[in-house]
Amino acid sequence: MRTFDKVSLGLFPTPIYRLDNLSRLLGTNIWVKRDDLCGVALGGNKVRKLEYLLADAKAQGYDLVMTTGQAQSNHAMLTAACALRLGMDCVLVLKQRGVTACKGNQILNRLMNVEVIFVDTDSYEDIYAEMDRIAKARGRRVYKIPCGGSNALGSLGYVDCMKEVAACGVHFDAVYCACGSGGTAAGTALGASIYLPDTKVVCPMVDSDPFDQIVPALMRQSATLLETDVPLHTPELIDLCGPGYSIPSAEGNEAIALMLRHEGIVLDTCYTGKAFAGLLRQVREGRYTDRDNILFIHTGGAGGLFAQDWEHMNL
Ligand SMILES: *Cc1c(COP(=O)(O)O)cnc(C)c1O
Repeated sequence: MRTFDKVSLGLFPTPIYRLDNLSRLLGTNIWVKRDDLCGVALGGNKVRKLEYLLADAKAQGYDLVMTTGQAQSNHAMLTAACALRLGMDCVLVLKQRGVTACKGNQILNRLMNVEVIFVDTDSYEDIYAEMDRIAKARGRRVYKIPCGGSNALGSLGYVDCMKEVAACGVHFDAVYCACGSGGTAAGTALGASIYLPDTKVVCPMVDSDPFDQIVPALMRQSATLLETDVPLHTPELIDLCGPGYSIPSAEGNEAIALMLRHEGIVLDTCYTGKAFAGLLRQVREGRYTDRDNILFIHTGGAGGLFAQDWEHMNL
């Protein structure tokens, strides 16, 4: 297999351990991989992707990066934190959607003094055009990182994550990870194809894009980069979006409360709460026995939790 250069940004490998209280409560063995503890800002899955993407930017001589997402994007905040550490300039060109006030991740963006530009659009094409326009006006070259860092190169970060999982010595029957822009799901499913051929990958979707096409296409592109022809897993995509992307759901909030009460682990409303709710749903449907091992990848997101108005939520 081909390898690609990375810059070192996170503390890897991240811990994997069994959640004893929830395992007892639910009658199967639930494990967690703490990618939220990867050591940059509030942690999260984007750091693994950025290790590849920012290495690529540096190798090509860029010193300005721009990325996008919604107002509370964890990915945008982490791109800024990682770029600053590497001495690169960063501009966040965000969709004017979600909580734009100085709450949650916007507090961290403010503290980093990173430039944030909101564009009132639902089209990423408009956003990328705006990035080009800004860069041109400043006479700079810009390395544009797509929403979520979800391209073929960024997704390789989750191939590496599955290599870490394979090295931990526990056989997992299933791995669960949230699917928001598709790169984590694609990397995880490709990594499982390579390193964990007997492990099922289940990806609760927290947005309503056509992931049944996006994820397999990304998997094929990443497999092409790696020059591997392993038979590709088909991840099981399940709908946990609820009332909409980044809008809390009752099922997600129940999962957040359960995880915090029993295991002292903080999940978020946009991604990991809904993803863990997907795991809970399938466990409660009786899909697993007391001999099965199930791994939940905690992809981070704590910042967004504190942008929510919890006063009006039923807990
Ligand atoms: C971005 C994100 C995800 C989803 O990952 P994608 O690769 O975009 O599908 C999951 N959890 C958190 C906390 C995220 O920030």
